Amino acid sequence: MDPLDVLTNLDEVIPYYQAIYSADEQQIIGYEVLGRIKLNDEAESLGEFFQDENIPDEYRIEVDDSILSLAIDEFLELKDSHLNLFINRDANLLMLDHGESFLEILLEKQQKGLKLNQIVLEITEHNFRGDIEQLYHLLLYYRTYGIKVAIDNIGKASSNLDRIGLLSPDILKIDLQPLRLSSPSQSYYDVLYSISLLARKIGAALLYEDIEVNFQLQYAWKNGGRYYQGFYLSKPQREFTKIDECKAMLKNEFQTYINSEKKKLENLYLFTENFNQRVQQILQKVGKQFENYEDLLQQLSKELNDCSFRIYICDEDGFQQSVNIFKQEKWEIQPQYFLHNWSWRPYFLANIMRMRFDQKGFLSDVYSDIETGELIRTFSFPLSQNHYLFIDLAYAYLYEEEGLL
Ligand code: CA
Repeated sequence: MDPLDVLTNLDEVIPYYQAIYSADEQQIIGYEVLGRIKLNDEAESLGEFFQDENIPDEYRIEVDDSILSLAIDEFLELKDSHLNLFINRDANLLMLDHGESFLEILLEKQQKGLKLNQIVLEITEHNFRGDIEQLYHLLLYYRTYGIKVAIDNIGKASSNLDRIGLLSPDILKIDLQPLRLSSPSQSYYDVLYSISLLARKIGAALLYEDIEVNFQLQYAWKNGGRYYQGFYLSKPQREFTKIDECKAMLKNEFQTYINSEKKKLENLYLFTENFNQRVQQILQKVGKQFENYEDLLQQLSKELNDCSFRIYICDEDGFQQSVNIFKQEKWEIQPQYFLHNWSWRPYFLANIMRMRFDQKGFLSDVYSDIETGELIRTFSFPLSQNHYLFIDLAYAYLYEEEGLL
């Protein structure tokens, strides 16, 4: 599209609205404003226009402001103070006048009944070139008016967790498009996971966008997504979608996810119970017939040959009280791990405490083994007063069991 077409047809520039759904109410909580231009009876996206840095700043701001003004006027006609209007602003353009003109428009609309706490400002962190501290102070200033802040386009380009944390947004918008690749990399999932932990720490809600198919919605639901947006729910359109448009569908989908998740958790629980019994029985069988821990590990390795590839024993402070017994082709002793300390590992002490009080075994989450790089789980078990048995379960075994990976 020729930028001149936009500038000479300013009165053909119109807002489209894409609905944003909330998981807790299964209905629309707001709309993102998207710029369109009507050319030859077709509404074309203005996305490229706004991202084209060859177009002088003042033109892009003029078009943006014109859409904003129209959008707020239409939004006010809904007369629903629970709804939010999500507005995209280029942080670089916003900072040109330290955010003044944007705020002026909002304050002007406030006189017409707009509540500023209905505004969610969407900015992109990774293409911001200015001083992040200054942007932070502007957002802080906006907040005093009740304006909420969303960081947009997380996951599309490399995001800087440090800067996102500093900006302390209310909402993180995460793009789920990469999930549709035939095989998204494990690191993509890991990055999303880190972002969800960050969101939890800084008290930001997760909004997953570009949801186009069911499994993306399921992913969003399962990974702490409070808000959802995408073609699978609603396309951008000229009119505001009715707030309960997808309510029945969402409720239905959630029920399916809940059932399947509960089933998985049940499996996990039953597996843990059974495995606990198995270890108990093995230990009963072995009884006191071992001379030292190395001997005990030798016996255990025979009994657990079908599932494990590494077994060792630690005290409750994480100091290893035995060697490792480790299986590659066959079981071998690794003496070098004796007295190594594992208390620094995530959840180590918490899990020890749990076993001490429950007096039963505990199955870890799935994680990558540092040595083999394989996805594994560890089953730990209280062996005696303050010694604990650690049984690393191999990927091949977990793969065969239902719902363990
Ligand atoms: Ca956006």
